[in-house]
Amino acid sequence: MSNLDLRPAPAECGGRADVTARPVRELLPAKRVPLGESTVVRRLLPSLGRRMVGAWCFVDHYGPDDIAHEPGMQVPPHPHMGLQTVSWLHDGEVLHRDSLGSLQTLCPGQLGLMTAGSAIAHSEESPREHARVLHGAQLWVALPDAHRRTAPAWEHHAELPRVTGGGLRATVLMGELDGAASPATTFSPLVGADLTLPAGASARLPVRPDFEYAALTMSGEAEVDGVRLAPGSMLYLGCGRSELPLRADVDSSFMLLGGEPFEEHIVMWWNFVGRSHEDIAQARADWMTGSRFGEVHGYEGARLLAPELPPVALKPRGRAR
Ligand code: MN
Repeated sequence: MSNLDLRPAPAECGGRADVTARPVRELLPAKRVPLGESTVVRRLLPSLGRRMVGAWCFVDHYGPDDIAHEPGMQVPPHPHMGLQTVSWLHDGEVLHRDSLGSLQTLCPGQLGLMTAGSAIAHSEESPREHARVLHGAQLWVALPDAHRRTAPAWEHHAELPRVTGGGLRATVLMGELDGAASPATTFSPLVGADLTLPAGASARLPVRPDFEYAALTMSGEAEVDGVRLAPGSMLYLGCGRSELPLRADVDSSFMLLGGEPFEEHIVMWWNFVGRSHEDIAQARADWMTGSRFGEVHGYEGARLLAPELPPVALKPRGRAR
């Protein structure tokens, strides 16, 4: 997915200034952002109150939307740099094409992981024949400086490890949770998991005290560390926990994101993560002149044009507000 803001604000993130070393329960409301003509997404990161959770730097939750008589998701070719995109569906399907020549239909329960590294371009669309309901999340992970120019890659993981107990069923997308490790490539210590809690379930999930965590409900109303969490907000949990109490009165599912606090300062603008204004300006220029990012073949329609850069230079300033 692309950030389709016509005037995207630069987000300066990273550093430990805004990390909460102890457990907290900080409820962060989503921003509703139109994506294309018929879709509105709930943007949970970056938000005014918080820019990153570990290396997770962008979280959109969309749907469930009835797209039976709609084109559904139609995101034309656009570039990425310095990050990984994590695509995850609860309902529907998304057809992914990229400048490496990948062509993959992503289905619910499968991980689509694109490492942009130095440069990649992709498109995402609902296939012409598609399911009635589209529901999912699109997340980005910032790459650390040592790996941000790595070669671009696409991974499709149809089989992911599971953790069960106390009625809880967790699917591990990225990293490791309670001893179950995802096969997905990661570049910093982090975890991303999708957890299902049937009505009446109660569990204590082992987590790492050195990680910060956040949770977002996909459906139902999960109770995370005593806080009832409906779709549309993210609960920031801070660091310093060795377990996380979970329960639900109704069938619920939520995503748990966590990681070692991301020390480096980064600049995020449009679909790029860099370290300086020059990084971002060069990537924008390269996309507009058609160099570096390659071609996405097969998408019917024009590629996205980059928005104008803001008039002031982008500066990395740490994760404080
Ligand atoms: Mn994208």
